[in-house]
Amino acid sequence: MASQNTALNMFIRGQWTPSSNCEQTTAVMNPSTGQIIGRTPVGSPQDVDDAVHAASEALPTWAETPVVERARVMFAYRQLMEKEFDALARLLTREHGKTHAEARAEVQRGLEMVEFACSVPALIGGQTFPQIARGVDGETNRHPVGVCVGITPYNFPNMVPLWMFPIAITCGNTFILKPSEKVPLSAIRLVELLAEAGLPDGVMNLVHGGKEVVDALLTHDDVAAVSFVGSTKIAKYVYEVGSSHGKRVQAAGGAKNHLIIMPDADLDQSVKALAASAFGCAGQRCMAGSVAVAVGRVGDSLIEGLVDHAGSINVDVTDGNDAAEMGPVISREHRDRVASYLDIAKTSGASVVLDGRSVEAGDSFLLGPSVVDQVTIDMPLWKEEVFGPLLSVVRADSLEHAIAVGKACPYGNGASIFTQSGHAAREFKRHFNAGMIGVNVGVPAPMAWLPFTGWNQSFFGDLHIQGTEGVHFYTRQKMTLTRWFESKDESHVDPVWNSVGPTGSST
Ligand code: NAD
Repeated sequence: MASQNTALNMFIRGQWTPSSNCEQTTAVMNPSTGQIIGRTPVGSPQDVDDAVHAASEALPTWAETPVVERARVMFAYRQLMEKEFDALARLLTREHGKTHAEARAEVQRGLEMVEFACSVPALIGGQTFPQIARGVDGETNRHPVGVCVGITPYNFPNMVPLWMFPIAITCGNTFILKPSEKVPLSAIRLVELLAEAGLPDGVMNLVHGGKEVVDALLTHDDVAAVSFVGSTKIAKYVYEVGSSHGKRVQAAGGAKNHLIIMPDADLDQSVKALAASAFGCAGQRCMAGSVAVAVGRVGDSLIEGLVDHAGSINVDVTDGNDAAEMGPVISREHRDRVASYLDIAKTSGASVVLDGRSVEAGDSFLLGPSVVDQVTIDMPLWKEEVFGPLLSVVRADSLEHAIAVGKACPYGNGASIFTQSGHAAREFKRHFNAGMIGVNVGVPAPMAWLPFTGWNQSFFGDLHIQGTEGVHFYTRQKMTLTRWFESKDESHVDPVWNSVGPTGSST
């Protein structure tokens, strides 16, 4: 499938075909070895047009296919994914650098999205309002929106595409996936398995590329809806361009997630949860805790515990090495960017208490965990999304102070509190300025059945990804009012029942 020299194919009308622009490519790297393992074509608007035509042609038949039959494809898909579970995880590790355990956890979360999609028949129903007026019945029902697009980031190559297409497709839409050019291999395998599960040609399509391809998708007349996950700058752009071209858009952006540690927190458990949140997936999670707010006297012992714990993590290459507990970041450039924040921190007056640059990287993109104390909210390290294994520690006098730190943050994805006080937890839940809240949970990322409710600059749009909000995003409502003129007044027997006899004996 993937070769070092040949550009990867697109998937259009059920066929793997070369892009019309595969001379220009982006290298897909194995972060554990620094080697090129594939080449993603830069793609072209012509590719997008082909994919949109294919998806448009397939749409009427697929939208008319009963929802239980559509869901049945997802049941088959689930079985195929389950069978390939480990191989999917290993592919993910190869192109992204996650540890094997992290990769398996990601595939599990993606699989749960497919399980959720299997329940769409139970969620897609409408409401009825009998006799909403005299002799008049009202009802709502949900219809597919049309050709949907998914544009995904590098940090969850398997799970994030699965946030989107299983629900969209089961709701009766057709789909075009544009995966991150840095990690296209998992997306390709997911699409291959979908075809194997029996999805009709044209319902699922895949194109490759960057800005030019994204722009062509956002402005194409026949695209109805766009789901995007990535950085805030691009999320905002996708939201603005897509919605100004009449598309329904949900665009999830970057984050700066705060973890508040109260003086009464269970310190050992909190340190473990904080380290897992900040350094898990090498800090490249949109729900990673990147700022610890230490309240009152907890600060010094927290720092000590964190440095001890982080120092014991087995940071190593991950491809072919299941013993690694933390793997590399996505690229050499990204590693240098993350590391540069350590120098910025020093010059802005913060204190680097653990420096991840001491890890031996060889040809890999490894960077060890870093902890920076005495960070304040005027520093770039607090204001900007670093997206790497670097935890900033802000000191606060009180819970109110900690909540005020969060309020100043332009992002609003997730936040957690570590405490044994129900009152502190309640205050935090009610007043912290973020959409996903954890109480003694390091990464409060919702599972498939719940919406992924980022706030502020972490989300642009209305209906969020996942859960029933996902079903609502991928369907539009139709309202029908019905009156039958045979009904002379509201006590008249309904003509539906008349047709089978007044005693309704058809069943
Ligand atoms: P990114 O914004 O660079 O890329 C995301 C997608 O946008 C990719 O498919 C890419 O090809 C495309 N893209 C890049 N530049 C573009 C441009 N100029 N115009 C149009 N499209 C463009 O993000 P990334 O670096 O791949 O992923 C990391 C980011 O994603 C982080 O900011 C992280 O917080 C965020 N993220 C957010 C969530 C969430 O749910 N909020 C989840 C995962 C990742």
